[in-house]
Amino acid sequence: MTLHSPTNSSNRHDVLILGGGLMGLAIAHQLARRGCAVTVLSRRRSEAAGFVAAGMLAPHAEGLSGNLLRLGQLSLERVPRWVAQIEADSGLPCGLRATGIVVPFLDAKERDCYPTAAFGEALNRERLEQLLPGIAPTWQAGLLFDQDGQIDNRRQLMRSLESACVDRGVNFQEGVEVLDVLQRDGRLHGVQTRDSEGQLATLECTTAVLCSGAWSAQLLPELPVFPVKGQMVSLQTPRGALKHVIFGPGTYLVPREDGLVVVGATSEPEAGFKEGLTPQGQQHLNQGIAALLPEAVNWPPMERWWGFRPCTPDEGPLLGEGPIQGLWLACGHHRNGVLLAAITTELLADAITGHATACDAKELLNAFRWDRFRDDMTQNKAPERASRGQGGLKPMKRESDQPSVRQP
Ligand SMILES: Cc1cc2nc3c(=O)[nH]c(=O)nc-3n(C[C@H](O)[C@H](O)[C@H](O)COP(=O)(O)OP(=O)(O)OC[C@H]3O[C@@H](n4cnc5c(N)ncnc54)[C@H](O)[C@@H]3O)c2cc1C
Repeated sequence: MTLHSPTNSSNRHDVLILGGGLMGLAIAHQLARRGCAVTVLSRRRSEAAGFVAAGMLAPHAEGLSGNLLRLGQLSLERVPRWVAQIEADSGLPCGLRATGIVVPFLDAKERDCYPTAAFGEALNRERLEQLLPGIAPTWQAGLLFDQDGQIDNRRQLMRSLESACVDRGVNFQEGVEVLDVLQRDGRLHGVQTRDSEGQLATLECTTAVLCSGAWSAQLLPELPVFPVKGQMVSLQTPRGALKHVIFGPGTYLVPREDGLVVVGATSEPEAGFKEGLTPQGQQHLNQGIAALLPEAVNWPPMERWWGFRPCTPDEGPLLGEGPIQGLWLACGHHRNGVLLAAITTELLADAITGHATACDAKELLNAFRWDRFRDDMTQNKAPERASRGQGGLKPMKRESDQPSVRQP
C-alpha cells in the first residue's frame, strides 16, 4: 500500500491514522469529511480510553486554568456542532446531555477559592440539597456549572464515530499494530505494521497522525506521554434519582439517560500498563460514593472496568507538528480527551489540509507543542511523572499535588 503526500497531483489528502481510539476516529472522520482518503490502523479498539471515560465535558468543574482552560472552553463551544456532524453521518445518537455539573465543597471559603469559581453559580447548603437530594451533610457549599455537560462516550459516541467514519469512506484496519515509524532525513516515509495474523508489512506514507493514546511514547520515545490507570463502576439507579453530575474530590457520579450512573475514578500512575481491577481501587470508588451520596451505596453495580489516561507532565495534550515532518500529533489528552476531541479534531484537520482556521489556532498549537517541556529536560529537572509514581490511589481529599484540581 502506498499513500501519497497531501500535495500530490490528484490533490487527495491521504493520511494514515496511528491508533483507532477516540482521537483516531474523530480525526479520521473530520479528514474524510474534507475529502481526504484516510486509513485507520488500530491495534485494539476495545482497549481505548475512549470507551473507559466518564464522558464529562467539564473545563469549569475540573478547575482548569491557563491555556488548558481556554482549549477546553473552545472545545465545549464546538461540541454541539461536532456531535451534530457525527450523528448526521452515522444516523446514531452520541448521547450528549446538558446535565450541568455540581462541585460540592466543605464550606464557602473552599468554594470561593476554586480556580473557576467565577464561571459557576455559588450554592449554599440549601440550594445544594435542592439540586442533589441526598447529598452527604459534609458538603455545605457548591458550584453549579450549568455550561458543562457529558456525553455517553462508552455506549454511544464511540459507536457513532465508527459508523460515521465508515459512512465517509474511512478505511479501517483493525488488529493492526504499528511497530515502527520510518523516517528519512527527518521526514516520514512510512510505518511498519503487524496484522492480527502476525503478517509484517511496510506501508509507505508521508502524512500520518499519531493517536496512540497512553501508548504514544512506545512509537516515539521522545514524547513525554505516560499512562495513568483509572478504574470505574456503573450503578443502576431508580429513575431520575440523580439529575446532575456530582464532581467530588477523587470521585464523581455521572447520570446517563438510560438510568445508569457512571462512577469514577481511581488515578494510579504507579500501575503503569498493569491491566485489571483491584480490590483497593474498587474500595476507593465505594468510599467515594458513600462520602458523596450515601444512598447510592445501595444501588446495584452493573459493570466494572478500567483503562489508561494518556498523561503528560503538565497534563495538557501534545498537538500539531511533531519531531518528524509529516507525522502530526494528537495525543496526551489525559483526563480531558472527551472534552477536547472537538477542538483537537478541528485544529488537526485544519493544519493537515491547510484550511484557514476560525480560532487562534497558531497560538493554541504553539501552547501545546510536544517539545514545550524541553527546558525542564535540559535542566535535568525530575519530570513530574517520577514523583507521581509514588502517589498510589488518590485519597478522598483535595489533590495534594494540585490543590484545587479534581481527578476524573
Ligand atoms: C478512567 C478514565 C476516566 C476518564 N474520564 C474522562 C472524562 O470524564 N472526560 C474527558 O474529557 N476525558 C476523560 N478521560 C480521558 C479520555 O478518555 C482520553 O483522554 C481519551 O480517550 C484519549 O483518546 P486517545 O484516542 O488519545 O486514546 P485512546 O482512546 O486510548 O485510543 C488509543 C488507541 O490507540 C491504539 N494504539 C496504541 N498503540 C498502537 C499501535 N502501536 N498501533 C496501532 N494502534 C495503537 C490503542 O489500541 C487504542 O485503541 C478519562 C479516561 C479514563 C481512563
